[in-house]
Amino acid sequence: MIYTGELSLKTKGDGEIIDITAKVQKHLTESGITGGIVMVFVQHSTCGITTVEYEPGLIEDLGKLWERIAPKNIPYAHDAHWGDGNGYAHVRASLLGASLTVPFTDKNLALGTWQQIILVDFDNRPRTRTVVVQVMGE
Ligand code: ZN
Repeated sequence: MIYTGELSLKTKGDGEIIDITAKVQKHLTESGITGGIVMVFVQHSTCGITTVEYEPGLIEDLGKLWERIAPKNIPYAHDAHWGDGNGYAHVRASLLGASLTVPFTDKNLALGTWQQIILVDFDNRPRTRTVVVQVMGE
């Protein structure tokens, strides 16, 4: 059986990190499926999805990591071509990846105790974002 749901999220951009674990679990519960995998996919080229221990220190550490890997203040061909000034956001999002797959049993996500699912919005302005939550199992 396959169930497909969606999350709509208002984000601030600029690397904002949002814990979406509870919202994903809500769709999993609604699906009525007992065991299988949940795939979470963000439909935007300046967002990424991963897991983290959601605490202020790591949120700060990740912000510094993006700046080291893909700094804002260097030239990007995307900006020269497209003019929207968010080349760094696209590069960061591609590195992080747009999806995550998590197994579940007994209708509960099989995440570690200190492991949350996060959406990161790298874009340079507030946006409304759509995340597809697809539950596959029986
Ligand atoms: Zn762009």
